Amino acid sequence: MLLKNANIYDVRAGAFKLGHLFIENGRIADIGFDGSPQSDAIDMEASYVLPGFIDCHVHLCVDTYNPDASRLWAGAKPGTIALSASRAAYRTLLCGVTSIREVGGWDYHEIAVRDAVNAGTIAGPRIFCAGKIISMTSSSTPYWTGMYDEADGPDEVRKAARKQLANGADLIKILASGAMTSSRNERADAVQLRPDEIKAAVEIAKDNFTHVASHAHACEAVINSVECGCASVEHGSFGDETAYKMMAKAGTYLVPTLCVHPGLLDNEEFASQTPAHIRERYASLRVTRTENMRLAHSLGVAIAMGTDVGTPGNHAGNNLLELSLMVNNVGLSPEESLLATTLHGADLLGRADEFGSLEVGKRADLVAMRANPLQKIEAVDALDFVMKDGVAYRDDDRRLGTNCPDFWAPGRAGGFY
Ligand SMILES: [Zn+2]
Repeated sequence: MLLKNANIYDVRAGAFKLGHLFIENGRIADIGFDGSPQSDAIDMEASYVLPGFIDCHVHLCVDTYNPDASRLWAGAKPGTIALSASRAAYRTLLCGVTSIREVGGWDYHEIAVRDAVNAGTIAGPRIFCAGKIISMTSSSTPYWTGMYDEADGPDEVRKAARKQLANGADLIKILASGAMTSSRNERADAVQLRPDEIKAAVEIAKDNFTHVASHAHACEAVINSVECGCASVEHGSFGDETAYKMMAKAGTYLVPTLCVHPGLLDNEEFASQTPAHIRERYASLRVTRTENMRLAHSLGVAIAMGTDVGTPGNHAGNNLLELSLMVNNVGLSPEESLLATTLHGADLLGRADEFGSLEVGKRADLVAMRANPLQKIEAVDALDFVMKDGVAYRDDDRRLGTNCPDFWAPGRAGGFY
């Protein structure tokens, strides 16, 4: 398949250039900038073509339309959760996100969804799973009944990490501090897993050629995560200059998850149905977090895009809101926000040689839009073309002249595996 007359984005240079892309066997086989190739090529009409986007922080199994997560899935049948997660995955793909890091599933339903996508049975983004989140003994475990695996002390953490990998996890997720969407008596600024426990998780991840994503709001938890060798700090809300400088020096990615605040707060009717203590936390952290993300960015911390889709009101399919929040609130340039949402995500996943940029030999994951996102980042909201592994799942203007596969992707006839 040859796409001509495309404004091809170079994420490293932060610039578009008119040219053509040849796609073969799901990969980018050639990119050229020398005039117009054969006339039967698909005309992209000077659309802006970028690498497929990557969201490094989602929770596919959470019903984000339920304002009270403390009663999540109470009484639900197991299949209900997997069906909901697969719908969230499909919505994520259609909005332009072709790879996701799932950092806290629910009784491994998300791993079943990943496997079904990989088998070609259903359509969805490429999914990298953490399985259950490794947490110390916590008052929030009953809150997130399917999401946490409790472990105290390095030996238990090693066992819990191995358990996630045995269940098919691609990476390890830990709680180095308290959470925001949690029980009333948990504090986000309190340290949870301690350095010896975090180190144990990192050891097991390294043994298995993968990484640890560390949930850390508290400043000391951010520092612990960096010192113990975690690949990313999720949220990083209460970091200070020392903590962010350590991140910049170590090359630890920051995943800001700015979408949580508008998701829970901006729809007043929805917000009024959420538990008061959670609503108050989200409201009070909003300004602090934005200021601290600005500080981290100004100190040179590498940012990978992550939305935390799965917090109340933060729905799958709205993922690209994170780009305009990074640009308008945190001060990233459009180029930086696109880098965070492509190559940085791929690098964090350890897959920068496979996807995350439009380069010969990489997987043909791409999105296209009519307006230039460097002029106005909100252009990404109007993207009209999504391709993953050389298959177009969205082609609103029917440039290809054929129907896209739907949710029940016809990638394989019969059978799940
Ligand atoms: Zn999260």
